[in-house]
Amino acid sequence: MTKTYLTHLECSVCGAVHPHREVQTVCKPCGKSLLARYNLQQAKKELPKFLAGSSCTSLWKYAPILPVQEEENFISLGENISPLLRLPKLGAELGMQNLWIKDEGQLPTGSFKARGLAMAVSKAKELGVKKICLPSAGNAAGAAAAYAARAGLECMVYMPEDTPSVNIKECQAYGAVIKLVKGNISDAGKAMNEARKSNPDWFDVSTLKEPYRLEGKKTMGYELAEQFDGTLPDLIFYPTGGGTGLIGMWKAFDEMEELEWIGPKRPRMISVQSSGCQPIVKAFSERKNESEFWHYAETVASGLRVPKPFADHLILKAIYASGGCALAVTDEEIVSAVKEIASKEGLFVCPEAAATLVALCHLRSKSDVSATDTVVLFNTATGLKYPEIMS
Ligand SMILES: *Cc1c(COP(=O)(O)O)cnc(C)c1O
Ligand SMILES: [Zn+2]
Repeated sequence: MTKTYLTHLECSVCGAVHPHREVQTVCKPCGKSLLARYNLQQAKKELPKFLAGSSCTSLWKYAPILPVQEEENFISLGENISPLLRLPKLGAELGMQNLWIKDEGQLPTGSFKARGLAMAVSKAKELGVKKICLPSAGNAAGAAAAYAARAGLECMVYMPEDTPSVNIKECQAYGAVIKLVKGNISDAGKAMNEARKSNPDWFDVSTLKEPYRLEGKKTMGYELAEQFDGTLPDLIFYPTGGGTGLIGMWKAFDEMEELEWIGPKRPRMISVQSSGCQPIVKAFSERKNESEFWHYAETVASGLRVPKPFADHLILKAIYASGGCALAVTDEEIVSAVKEIASKEGLFVCPEAAATLVALCHLRSKSDVSATDTVVLFNTATGLKYPEIMS
C-alpha cells in the first residue's frame, strides 16, 4: 500500500492552506505550525479499521494516513509498534487496576524521537532536501543523525554543551556535524539560526517548525487506540518538552474519530514537566493560551528542558479541550522514581518518564484519578541513555 490520503497542509492558527508537494516550514502568512491534512472521508470508505490485515509491524503500517508518497522513500530502522505494558506492582501500590506504560525505549536510537524523525527525514528526502539541521536537548539529535545517515542526507545538530554524553557520542558515530552551545536548547536554536543565515540550504527540522515530525509522533495515538481495541484510556500522562507527542496524539484522536475507528471519548491529557523548567505548567495555572520563556531552565530530564515550546498554544489547547492539567515534579522525585520503576517493574525508564509516575502519584493522592481509571504513562526513552542519572 503506497497510497497516502494526504491532501494539503493547513496552518494551525490562521487556517492558510499550503501545498504539500513542495518543502514547507511554518505558515507563510503567520509563522505558526502547519498541520498535515488528509482526505479522511475517502480513507474511511477504503481503509479497514486500524489497517487490519496489514502485514507491516512498524509505524509504516499507517502509511495511508502518513505523509510520504512513495514507499521507496520510507526511511526505516524498524520502528516497531511499541509495547503497552501493565505496571502491576506500582498499580497495586496506588490502588489502581489499570495502570499501563507505553514503552518507547525500544524504538530505534532508544527514544520515541525516532518516530518523528523517521517521518521528517523520509519526507525531506522525498522532496529533494539534502541537508537537515536542528537544535536538540539530545535524543532528537541522535534520531535525526541516524535517519539522515540512513537516507544519505547531511545532518548538523546544535546541542547544549551539558547534553548527556551518550547523545553526543551517538551523533558522532552517525557522522553528524555537531555544535555544542553554552546554555539550553533555546540558545542552541539561536546559534543555529545565526549559522543558517550564511547556509540557507540547511533545512530546519526543529520541533513543529516543519510539519512531519508531528505526523510520525501521532502514530503513538493510533497504536494506543489499537492496543486498547478502539477505546482510549481515561488519562494519558505525557512528559512535555516541545509537546510534539501530546499534540500529535490529540490530532490522531480527531483523525480516528473522523475515520470512525473510535468514538468521541477522549483521555484527559496530563502534561508533566520538571519544576526546573515548567513553562506549560505556569501557563496552565494562569489559564493562559501561550507560555512565557522559562529562565534558567535546569533539570535532569533533559528532554523536558524546553524553556519556550514553539507550539505552546497547541499543547495548551489540547490540555484544556481534554479536561486535563499540567503539573511539575522535582528532580529529586524523578531520580527516585527511576529506581522505583526499575526495581519494581524491571523497566529502566528515562527520567522524563519517571516524572509521569510522580505526577500520577500526586493526582492520585488528591483523588483526581480513580481506582478504576485506565491510565497510560509514557516511557519516552530507555534509561540506558542516561548513565549520569544513577551516579
Ligand atoms: C523530547 C523528549 C521528550 C519531550 O517530547 P516532546 O514531544 O517534544 O514534548 C520527553 N522525553 C524524552 C526522553 C525526550 O527525548
Ligand atoms: Zn497561519
